[in-house]
Amino acid sequence: MIDIKESLKDIVPYKVTDKPYDIKLDANEGCNYMLNSRLNLNNLNPQRYPDSDAKELRENMAEYYGCKMENILVGNGSSDLLLTTINAFCKNKEKVMTFDPSFSMYGIYCKLSNIKHTTIKSKDNYSFSLENIINKYLIEKPKILLICNPNNPTGSYIKKSDIIKILEKVEDTIVIMDEAYIEFGGESTVDLINEYENLIIMRTLSKAFGLAGLRIGALISNENMVENLWKVKLPYNLNSASQLLANQAFQNIEIINNHIELIIEERSRLIKKLEDMDFKVYPSMTNFIMIESNIKDLASKLENKKVLIRDFNKDIKNHYRITVGSREDNNYLIKILKEVKNESR
Ligand code: PMP
Repeated sequence: MIDIKESLKDIVPYKVTDKPYDIKLDANEGCNYMLNSRLNLNNLNPQRYPDSDAKELRENMAEYYGCKMENILVGNGSSDLLLTTINAFCKNKEKVMTFDPSFSMYGIYCKLSNIKHTTIKSKDNYSFSLENIINKYLIEKPKILLICNPNNPTGSYIKKSDIIKILEKVEDTIVIMDEAYIEFGGESTVDLINEYENLIIMRTLSKAFGLAGLRIGALISNENMVENLWKVKLPYNLNSASQLLANQAFQNIEIINNHIELIIEERSRLIKKLEDMDFKVYPSMTNFIMIESNIKDLASKLENKKVLIRDFNKDIKNHYRITVGSREDNNYLIKILKEVKNESR
């Protein structure tokens, strides 16, 4: 058998096993069911290639994100755009620096691109400080500083004034702000794209819009950067069904905004309920909550009762990430958590 490249051999393939569930709170997806009833594929023309430039979608996004369509490149999820950008900028041995803990795929993108992944360790409370970041930056001088803000899985957030201090400090480094969860809290940095030529922002319709299945991401930067990255974008990288449905979603923006409000309210309610049950709960600016629990194998015990949450035990002992769901889902989660807690006494 002809083997794959040496640098790829130790990658553990990202495979998602299907587990039966009544409620699914493990992948930070949306629960914006109202939006689904407004979307249809009546005008789909699958014989034709999609609009490779996704003009209508980029116009809609430009209005929503507060920039021009020339500032936007779309991809098959922000995952596609993250990998494309890392590939475009980093040569062998150059480094990408991210938080630790952070979105696990960053490390895999670095392996796929055969470049070095270096990390900034969090403080004891799983947050990150300006000092942390700058100190490590000055030691490592990475080609890309990739900041997940708010951060997955910790839910922590770096305020915009600190991001500006970072942008003022870094030189010859691309700063990627992964703002996948920014709609649920915090301030976007999109308005800074013309001030800092090295700034790239990643957004996604997978979270606040609740459209993870459509695989739509946006890269936002100055026009020059977008023009350059267009060179490495695959043609037709966003299929016509996704473009059609996403454009309809943008016509229903009030439903999306209401949904975001609802999740923010539910987040506070769920935090309170979890604290009342004596879980250690971390502050969150996202649509998920990180908790610490000494109930052994909490995630598998919930899984046996068909409730899915994300187990982070391997990376952070006794820690779990719970997506904030609809009110009904969250109530059901609390009910089952109480059962598991009682059974574990
Ligand atoms: N960035 C972060 C921080 C994420 O959590 C995720 C998805 N879990 C992504 C990017 C990828 O999102 P997409 O669905 O747009 O590929």
